[in-house]
Amino acid sequence: MAIIRQLDEQTANMIAAGEVVERPMGVVKELVENSIDAGAKRITVSVEEGGIASLTVSDDGCGMDSKDAVNAFLRHATSKIRSSEDLWDIGTLGFRGEALPSIASVSKLTLVTSDGTDCTKVVIEYGKTVSVSAWPCNQGTEITVENLFYRTPARLKHLRSGAYENSLVQDVIMKFAMSHPEIAFRFVSSGKEAFRTTGSGDLKEVIFQCWGREAAEAAIPVSFSDFDYQVSGYLVKPNITRASRNFMHIFLNGRMVKTYRLYQSVMDGYEDFIVKGRKPLCVLNIRMDPHLLDVNVHPSKWEVRISKENQLEYLLKDNVREALKNTMLAPNIRPSRESVQYEQIPLETNLTFHKPFVSAPEPQANVTPAPEMEPAFIPDVPHVKPEPVRTEPEVPEVTETPVTLTEPEPVVQKLPEMQVIGQLHEKFILCACEAGLAVIDQHAAQERVHYEEYCRALNQNPVMLDCLVPLTLAAGDDLVRRIDELNAAAADLHITFEPFGHDTLLVRSIPAWMKDLEEEPFLQDVLDNFRNERKSSYTRMEKKKIATMACHHSIRFNRALTMQEMNEVVRQLNDCENPYHCPHGRPTFVILDEKDLAKEFLR
Ligand code: ADP
Ligand code: MG
Repeated sequence: MAIIRQLDEQTANMIAAGEVVERPMGVVKELVENSIDAGAKRITVSVEEGGIASLTVSDDGCGMDSKDAVNAFLRHATSKIRSSEDLWDIGTLGFRGEALPSIASVSKLTLVTSDGTDCTKVVIEYGKTVSVSAWPCNQGTEITVENLFYRTPARLKHLRSGAYENSLVQDVIMKFAMSHPEIAFRFVSSGKEAFRTTGSGDLKEVIFQCWGREAAEAAIPVSFSDFDYQVSGYLVKPNITRASRNFMHIFLNGRMVKTYRLYQSVMDGYEDFIVKGRKPLCVLNIRMDPHLLDVNVHPSKWEVRISKENQLEYLLKDNVREALKNTMLAPNIRPSRESVQYEQIPLETNLTFHKPFVSAPEPQANVTPAPEMEPAFIPDVPHVKPEPVRTEPEVPEVTETPVTLTEPEPVVQKLPEMQVIGQLHEKFILCACEAGLAVIDQHAAQERVHYEEYCRALNQNPVMLDCLVPLTLAAGDDLVRRIDELNAAAADLHITFEPFGHDTLLVRSIPAWMKDLEEEPFLQDVLDNFRNERKSSYTRMEKKKIATMACHHSIRFNRALTMQEMNEVVRQLNDCENPYHCPHGRPTFVILDEKDLAKEFLR
């Protein structure tokens, strides 16, 4: 007996609804996408109870005539594609024709729409059309969704508090605002306007409206491209970071998607500049030929497949890194009123100044420079370079010019000119510089110096050391068979593996820099990463090891340094490619601005 039956349309829609819309945020996402596809310039979203009780999306887009207003609720009915070939050339956010019938199957939905001629109102309750009537309204569309999931208790239970759902809705509208700065968005929550953008097209303004002044001020414009991808947007300098990736926005052809590999590439670009474990803020719009982007992966359209994804990953990583390198300078710290305590302090401050010590001139003394002021106190190591030296600790103007691949910014990577004054608490090197007082973290500074030394060694033809006893590595049959491929991948590390039996590899010599590592576990990691084909994490791992090595070989906190040693630290730091951060992203020095100091003394 035949037992297979086709499901009725309402059941099919409810099944689709499970995938298309999980919560109010998903409904808002689908409706706003429709508004954007309709060419809207203004979109307003209002919610009650985070959208659980009701939500409305209204727009001034093209609207629909009365026939389309009804047809829009048919399953797989869409105006956006006509045939399967169009799936490879999608220029709209929607294309599946599933959202409206799905949403209407799990809520009470009211549509009011006008194309400038017809004006129509359609009411549908849990998949049943209740009424279709003429209804006076302006051109555009307004859709109200009430009592979402009221008749599907299992889904309703899945929702969290109104406040939580509200924050998800607000989040998704901010993402729309950032991906479409040319559209004016307004978000009203329980009758109160929570957020709005002007639609001026200025992304920085939207960043300000979404993330506040501080983030907008720290946002560096970027614009770079290769043959297939054009990327533009803003990177927020990593002095502002977050614990989660929620503030990393990457849009593909104006579409918000979850693209973990691309997030990772951007984080890799930030790696040298950001404190370990913290996540950056950024907004990047990536444009590409729609043929390179398969959006037909999941009904909710959050997932995509990107052709040439590796190429895009490298493009992002390299350019993010370059843009940050060109803009990251020493953080300028300001004494904050709250943190300054005017207490009596004992005279003995453990400030180990080295002879000859430059004392600050007496306030009113009309002084001739004390003999100690002679440059003689910078002994044999001249740290002043003949090249022009940037003296400003922060140069915001740099951020105004987009960083392009074709015309890189000619930024001079040099420290402000510094004169070592002394050491504080065996931890910090104090230097006078034009802007004020530079405080160098002696450990972080040396970590940076050693890190760059190791990286350089890695890039050059290294001195090879023969191992007394060759290193043997349990590699497995599979890797031994792929030995040529493996050796090609390990060429960067200057390592050559030799087969030894059917599942073991031998290494007879290692580059000199590797002797500071535990070679066997390091090489085993190389093999594991090769097996998993995670080239980027392999590079990351390499860097992590080098950073650890650099850390071990750097001067510790709590070590008194001679004047000569301190000058040497400053000189070496000055020679670094990126002197501003240790390999873990912490600053190597900060500058206490003289003007701020003067203010503290009420001058
Ligand atoms: P899709 O967006 O995938 O085409 P939907 O179910 O979301 O499917 O919408 C069905 C159709 O209804 C759309 O193709 C579009 O023609 C029309 N439509 C939906 N929302 C709007 C709107 N806000 N303005 C104009 N037309 C709309
Ligand atoms: Mg749609």
